[in-house]
Amino acid sequence: MLNTPRQVLPGAWQITLPLPFELSSVNVYLVRLRDGWLLIDCGLGAEESFESLRSQSASLGVPLEAITEILLTHTHPDHVGQARRLLELTGARLSISRDELEQLLRLAGSDRSPVWLDRTLHQAGVPPELVTRIEVSFDKIRRNFQELTPDRILEAGDVMETAAGPLEVILTPGHSPGHVCLYSSEHRALFSGDHILETITPNIGWLPERDALGEFLSSMDRVTPREISRLLPGHGLPFTGHREWIVATRRHHDERCGQIVTSLRGGPRTAHELVGDLWARPLAPFHHRFAVFEVMAHLEYLRRLGRVKLEGDRGFDLWRV
Ligand SMILES: [Zn+2]
Repeated sequence: MLNTPRQVLPGAWQITLPLPFELSSVNVYLVRLRDGWLLIDCGLGAEESFESLRSQSASLGVPLEAITEILLTHTHPDHVGQARRLLELTGARLSISRDELEQLLRLAGSDRSPVWLDRTLHQAGVPPELVTRIEVSFDKIRRNFQELTPDRILEAGDVMETAAGPLEVILTPGHSPGHVCLYSSEHRALFSGDHILETITPNIGWLPERDALGEFLSSMDRVTPREISRLLPGHGLPFTGHREWIVATRRHHDERCGQIVTSLRGGPRTAHELVGDLWARPLAPFHHRFAVFEVMAHLEYLRRLGRVKLEGDRGFDLWRV
């Protein structure tokens, strides 16, 4: 895939890297520092991705060794997979939020998915045979989760000084537990990671002891008042209109909640059964897993609002209104 870097701010370039998924590419950003370069996100751990980053950076006159800072918006495989290799190559300092680090460490260093993930799928009513197929479908992805040691834990309000002006850390949990966006008030720009994507609704998946959807909605509230004329997302081209996007995305989740409640009015259901109600066609195991976790995030949100109830005493979770 032949991509060329796109200048998005004075001193900042978007670099699009290939992905072997339906979602065909991911963006990382190179931002000039007074001394060195900041890389926002890293791409998937794959040779094609590495070579693409190397050649596109070189075309800007930036050898990878010139990268002195790496910041991760979150630790999904397409953003974190190449981090360890780049950190070893460059000796760059790593910045990441605490919740993302903890999530990464929960997933890193194992050939199998963690026990809690399998248990969660069984508890959601997914048949054992399908759990096994889901497990297999994640085999290659899992290698992207490698232990990392950060030099700095990102907190809300932290500021990074760059040649593109100061970038402020906004904590935006939801799509992942410690997702961060970076805001430039000087340029009215937001490096939005996967929190705001133009044509894709960010996947909101259930997480243990969290209200992922509730957190995502609150994170949108945190971004709404900012003046933003340029969104620099983790996937797709720069775009504008964050307030309209937030209204539409909120409506999408309201509708999904409404569909779930309507389904449950017909009788108790597992999350696995609800996926069958909500998606017209059967999903491949890889996508079924995301759908189950998405439904669970909505159920947990509705449970906290008192709109649905959980019966978990039969070896799997049965939801009802
Ligand atoms: Zn993501």
